[in-house]
Amino acid sequence: MKKVLISACLLGDKVRYDGNSLLSQHEILQRWIAEGRVISICPEVSAGMSIPRAPAEILGGDGNDVLSGSVRVIENTAADVTGMFLKGAENALALCKKQHIEVAVLADFSPSCGSSAIYNGEFSGTKIEGVGVTAALLIANGIQVFSQHQLADADKLLG
Ligand code: SF4
Repeated sequence: MKKVLISACLLGDKVRYDGNSLLSQHEILQRWIAEGRVISICPEVSAGMSIPRAPAEILGGDGNDVLSGSVRVIENTAADVTGMFLKGAENALALCKKQHIEVAVLADFSPSCGSSAIYNGEFSGTKIEGVGVTAALLIANGIQVFSQHQLADADKLLG
């Protein structure tokens, strides 16, 4: 049975920067859990970041630009957390490789997990099309990444 990587916050883990979750009770996700195919990770917490923590944004680009080294991930305290975000992405990729995972469902708008859109621009609330750092690294390694709003599409690939 094919396994699927899920952002931990979508499963109800209170790992977000504000100490909350993004619990999804979608029937497809519930079925995957019952089937035993769900593997979860919070990339940021896996890298050692605290709960709660300051909100962070990719300034001036998206996760692909962070991977190429052209932009940084900055907290609203001005702290540079690029290294932690890269470490979290590497942890997620290592987990996918270990579990032979080819499909991931990641929470959208996160600077780590965002799969189609992220916030960008000094905490102004500006949204752009783009991917988070973890999403970018997984996609670059051939993993199909979906948001929590695309569960049916991910389900088709899992078979
Ligand atoms: Fe959820 Fe990903 Fe943010 Fe962790 S890094 S709280 S899993 S969106």
